[in-house]
Amino acid sequence: MSNKIQAIRGMNDLLPDQSPLWQYFEGQVRALMRHYGYAEIRTPIVEQTALFKRSIGEVTDIVEKEMYTFDDRNGDSLTLRPENTASCVRAAMQHGLLHNQTQRLWYQGPMFRHERPQKGRYRQFHQVGVETFGLDGPDIDAEVILLSARLWKQLGLDQHVTLEINSLGSTEARAAYRDKLVAYFEQHHELLDEDSRRRLTSNPLRILDSKNPDMAEMLGNAPQLIDHLDPDSRKHFDGLTALLKAAGIEYVINPRLVRGLDYYSRTVFEWTTTTLGSQGTVCAGGRYDGLVEQLGGKSVPAVGFAMGIERLILMLDTLKLVPDNALTQLDAYLLPMSEATEPAALLLAERLRDALPALSLQLHCGGGSFKSRIKKADRSGARLALLIGEDELARDSVAIKFLREDREQLDIAQASLTETLNALLSGSSA
Ligand code: ATP
Ligand code: MG
Repeated sequence: MSNKIQAIRGMNDLLPDQSPLWQYFEGQVRALMRHYGYAEIRTPIVEQTALFKRSIGEVTDIVEKEMYTFDDRNGDSLTLRPENTASCVRAAMQHGLLHNQTQRLWYQGPMFRHERPQKGRYRQFHQVGVETFGLDGPDIDAEVILLSARLWKQLGLDQHVTLEINSLGSTEARAAYRDKLVAYFEQHHELLDEDSRRRLTSNPLRILDSKNPDMAEMLGNAPQLIDHLDPDSRKHFDGLTALLKAAGIEYVINPRLVRGLDYYSRTVFEWTTTTLGSQGTVCAGGRYDGLVEQLGGKSVPAVGFAMGIERLILMLDTLKLVPDNALTQLDAYLLPMSEATEPAALLLAERLRDALPALSLQLHCGGGSFKSRIKKADRSGARLALLIGEDELARDSVAIKFLREDREQLDIAQASLTETLNALLSGSSA
């Protein structure tokens, strides 16, 4: 067979040279969520198609053209999740998590959208997100924004992102605004592209979301929803901006920010960056008070966000913001210098792991000539090589060779090896 099987276009392998960077990011996220008292939820990556159609909305890019939908062997229509809010709501309802209680949840995992693959845009990509339920005030909106802002700070990204916010008001306010907007668009019908003409009747607000540069000026002059808010939504929005100001979070009000999904109401926000070219949104979220009811539950207020991990990793990589010690993996490479010392080396490796739970130690396996063994140790990336030759074996000792420092080799008795390694590896250098 001459054609080797390749990964599906737009779906990436995460190779060992990149995984430390992801683990660093994931570690920061996990610590952050704990810091704020958010609990992790994991849901299946496949759901019934109807869940996404009903929540995201039929007239959206995702549902119209991006979902991986298929019939399973029973003929049921299933879909690889394109996002995770709907799944969280489904799970929370199904397991009674929304009954007279509040929830602060977070998730992380792969999402699937059939889009044109390019830098920062893939067909399998990963999101971290939070979803909160049962809280309707601007305080929780502010909290989820502050939580995301703290992540930028932790990662050193805070100087490279901008917060944009807007309010979509209540359903009624949006309906009244919609009529004004349609009238405006009808006056400028000749400037609308094909997609927008179609949306004029089905979902005119979505036209504001268009990235077509030919429509930018006309869209810039369109009536703004933020000027037509109902009094409660206005109060909510003013409450949010007051909290953001008090917390020292800078923001820009973007009246054209409407978000691509149907289920949002009131607060919407996005964190954007200019470091990634056109794929500039790294985190997007908002309030979706109507979604639980829309999916058949009792009305429960909710607010959350999702961030694209690939885009954030790209930023960390481009801006060289990853601390060195987050990427160095192996502390030591244990090298039996000949076949005769291999069994002793294997047992020593186990003893060292017993004694030093944090130690990252790789044992040389697979034999080889003396020269090739030394080469493997050098290539391992470890800080130290622990060498056991027949001489060391006879004397119950180990030679420690510094692979990345210009420093003389040590000869250490096995009995004090734990202590020496501890000293050498604690702190940046011993
Ligand atoms: P965009 O306008 O870039 O298509 P979106 O509005 O479709 O984004 P959301 O559904 O809000 O995106 O998803 C939240 C975040 O997930 C985005 O801000 C982005 O960081 C990330 N994301 C969305 N789609 C992709 C994708 N195909 N590949 C990589 N990351 C993505
Ligand atoms: Mg999109």
